[in-house]
Amino acid sequence: MAGLIKLYVAANATDAHMLVALLAHEGIEAVVRGDGFVPLQGGHLFNMETRPSVWVLDDEYRQRAEVLAGEFARRGQAEEGDEWRCSCGEQVEAQFLECWNCGRGRPTFDVCR
Ligand SMILES: [Zn+2]
Repeated sequence: MAGLIKLYVAANATDAHMLVALLAHEGIEAVVRGDGFVPLQGGHLFNMETRPSVWVLDDEYRQRAEVLAGEFARRGQAEEGDEWRCSCGEQVEAQFLECWNCGRGRPTFDVCR
C-alpha cells in the first residue's frame, strides 16, 4: 500500500483545491491537507499557518502528478506576472492593481496578501 506523497504547497485553500480538481480530471487521486486548520487564538497566525498542501494517494501517479503540479504552479505565476484585461476592455500592465482607464481593481488580485 502506497503512502501519501506530498506534491505541492499551495498559497491558499482555493489554490490547493484547484490543483486537486485538475488532478482528478486527469484521473489522479489527490487530497488537500491543512486547509481546515484555523487557530482559535492568535488570529494573526491565520494567514501564515494555513498554507494547505496537496498530496497524491498513489505512488503510481507521482510522476504525472508532479508534471501537472509544475504546470499548475507556473500558470499561477504567469497569471500574477502578466498583463491583465480589465472589464472595460483595457490591457493593464502587471504591476498595476487598478485599471488606469476606469479605476476598477484587478479582478484576480489576491486580497489576502
Ligand atoms: Zn478599466
